[in-house]
Amino acid sequence: MFPVKDNLHKVLSSLPEGVRLVAISKYHPAEFITAAYEEGQRVFGESHEQELRQKHEELPKDIEWHFIGHLQTNKVKYIVPYITMIEAVDSIKLLREIQKQAAKADRTVKVLLELHIAEEATKYGLTLDDCRQLLAEGEWREMKNVQICGLMMMASNTDDEQQIASEFQQAASFFDEVKAEFFADDDNFCERSWGMSDDYQIAVRNHSTMVRIGTMIFGPRVY
Ligand SMILES: *Cc1c(COP(=O)(O)O)cnc(C)c1O
Repeated sequence: MFPVKDNLHKVLSSLPEGVRLVAISKYHPAEFITAAYEEGQRVFGESHEQELRQKHEELPKDIEWHFIGHLQTNKVKYIVPYITMIEAVDSIKLLREIQKQAAKADRTVKVLLELHIAEEATKYGLTLDDCRQLLAEGEWREMKNVQICGLMMMASNTDDEQQIASEFQQAASFFDEVKAEFFADDDNFCERSWGMSDDYQIAVRNHSTMVRIGTMIFGPRVY
């Protein structure tokens, strides 16, 4: 097995205080998760509903699962009964469905709003203007079973560290803007989820509170 335990400790010891690790276990077998679990890691991230469902059934119930992928609205009902946080919410439609299913399940689900700042033309994530608009419209304030805990983003996939740092900085100052405007009285709005295996060192220098690291801990994924 890939040296999961050693890698986990290397990553953990490189994180400054106040930055939490979400161990991204997608495409890796349950035994890899167990190895990290035995070292005390409790927060894991997955990006496919069926894979997550199987792992959730099989593994200890005190694991906090984060859903980090693009979530289709028709899958929301399957994960809401047990998910801790849905990290990549990028539409009001998805937020509404999470509220609806969370109310049915009598739970509160934590979410992050996903920003699209990177240069890549992906379909996912809110532009800063879309995110401002979603918050300004205020429908989220009535969603009693959804707790918006912060922002999530991915930097461009590039070797240009300046570029990556500048994207994290944009996300960090946007966080400050919306915190002041919409969440000044809400201590739950505190998370900045950025940083992956290749760029988390840059992310933690740019106000990340939560890093999502897979490859550095579990090795390359076999798709
Ligand atoms: C897969 C994934 C990660 C982890 O990426 P690594 O490069 O393996 O650390 C982080 N965030 C998201 C959204 C992912 O899909």
